[in-house]
Amino acid sequence: MKNLIYPIITLFFITMFFTPDACALDLSRKKKKAERKLYITVTKKDRCPVCGMFVHPYQKWITQIQFKNGSHHSFDGMKCMCRFYIDPEKYDATKKKQDITLILVRDYYTLKFIPYDKAFYAVGSDVFGPMGHELIPFDSQKNADIFLSDHNGLKVLRFDDINTELLDKLDKAKKTVTLD
Ligand SMILES: [Zn+2]
Repeated sequence: MKNLIYPIITLFFITMFFTPDACALDLSRKKKKAERKLYITVTKKDRCPVCGMFVHPYQKWITQIQFKNGSHHSFDGMKCMCRFYIDPEKYDATKKKQDITLILVRDYYTLKFIPYDKAFYAVGSDVFGPMGHELIPFDSQKNADIFLSDHNGLKVLRFDDINTELLDKLDKAKKTVTLD
């Protein structure tokens, strides 16, 4: 019995001193994993499934849809991503809307990636994307409003306001966008 006391005490101290560290390490790992998911990596070969353009040259405009099976599609701008979101199977027969796990857009000022449903989108401004007029994402209403007044924008929208009709209008618009 006496022989067992030292190992038990030693074990007790090891547990005391190392468990909190181990927990902290585990937490920071989890945090890192979550942060990593909020980053988009694209290769020079990645093409937008909607318009066929290479996305790599348009880092500032890149958006991404991630799927349950770990695959993803990257887009050269919001308009293409929205068209895909509205009808995924039209552009990739293997993808369904319910397979989508995360959609990331890029804040125009900070270039940080943010979830699509947290963003505020400025439309009708004098800033053009690779495919003409764009929906320009911001992480706050305040920044979207500042951009709107700096760049003669028309409106700030949320993701749920975006539909095919609006995308068509943005595509067809020449110098200025008219929304009613
Ligand atoms: Zn595209």
